[in-house]
Amino acid sequence: MKFDTWKLATRAVHAADGAWRAAAGESSHVPPIYQTTNFDYPDARAADEAAQGRAYLYTRDGNPSQDALAQAVARLEGGAAGLAFASGMSALCGALLAHLERGDHVVASEGLYGGTTEVLTHLLPRAGIEHTLTQAWDAGAVERALKPATRALVVETVTNPLLRVADLPALAALCLERRIALIVDSTFATPILCRPLEHGATLVMHSATKYLGGHGDVMAGILVGSSDAIARVRTFRSMCGGVLDPFAAWLALRGLRTLALRVERQCENAAHLARGLEGLRGIERVHYPGLPSHPDHARARRLLARPGAMVSFEVSGGGEGARRFYDRVRLIARAASLGEVESLLTHPASFSHRSLPAAERARLGIGEGLLRLSVGIEDPDDLLEDVRQALQ
Ligand SMILES: *Cc1c(COP(=O)(O)O)cnc(C)c1O
Repeated sequence: MKFDTWKLATRAVHAADGAWRAAAGESSHVPPIYQTTNFDYPDARAADEAAQGRAYLYTRDGNPSQDALAQAVARLEGGAAGLAFASGMSALCGALLAHLERGDHVVASEGLYGGTTEVLTHLLPRAGIEHTLTQAWDAGAVERALKPATRALVVETVTNPLLRVADLPALAALCLERRIALIVDSTFATPILCRPLEHGATLVMHSATKYLGGHGDVMAGILVGSSDAIARVRTFRSMCGGVLDPFAAWLALRGLRTLALRVERQCENAAHLARGLEGLRGIERVHYPGLPSHPDHARARRLLARPGAMVSFEVSGGGEGARRFYDRVRLIARAASLGEVESLLTHPASFSHRSLPAAERARLGIGEGLLRLSVGIEDPDDLLEDVRQALQ
């Protein structure tokens, strides 16, 4: 098929082609928005097909706009099937609750997204599912954390905010041997930088709120995997109802078409900034997998097409220094989230990792002076200039 011979940038533009095509004749060039809760049938036979799950019935069970987005991401990830959710967290809960049951054990990485850690520590135990946290960038540590009851391993391709890179091939080998589901949150990497299914992951999850949507105007979550793995989650989604609104799906799909272009520019900008930051007075340390000083530099070169568009750095003066820098940026926005066209700055110790005790933050390497920058598509010299003036 032509699609499979195309490079990623072409695929991103065309990933949803034909997903909404009418039975015959011409169709809308851009995917239409199926802003409907239900569907009409010409006769009893057609209605019966829908009732058996072979045609659209009710938008909580499925909708062409949701599916156009989910299938487009599945095609970019190289997965057989995809499913769209109202947010990244509903996708993650779907993946976990559809594949686990009482008595199961989960191994998960340290430094996962705060919401994910909360699900593991507060929600799953109430369903009788226990977990162990370990360092996913150390496959040996993961192996030691596995138990006979372990049924899932949850990792992120690249973690927040220190940008540690999981050893996906080694982890997939461990999981395959023991029939454990490898669930990879690949929000920070996007399919442009890494496609975890190619390394043996069972399910890939995205907060499409971030890079896939890319413009900070839509919340969405996506799961991609084999048809079997996705079918189980579809049933869960129908039960719990965390479905993506058709208009939100349309917005995310519109963002997806420029994904490759945006991520390439964002990564170039991030590399430029990381190199520039390293030499600046007032910067104590830069965390960027593209720098030889990063502990996972070699692994990033092996597993990621580019080292990503997130840069974290420690400013002098600890918490005070970080607050001063935060207050002084002019171009870079002071905002949560990431992956947007605009550069965004956060202070992990007061936002994403606020709920952790200071000692635990210190153990994880998240100091008071650490700042995290989600690099946008602005001119890189303007971004570096903003950082420079904020340090003065
Ligand atoms: C934002 C984020 C999530 C949660 O996604 P929502 O769309 O906010 O629900 C999960 N994982 C990572 C890595 C994220 O950045």
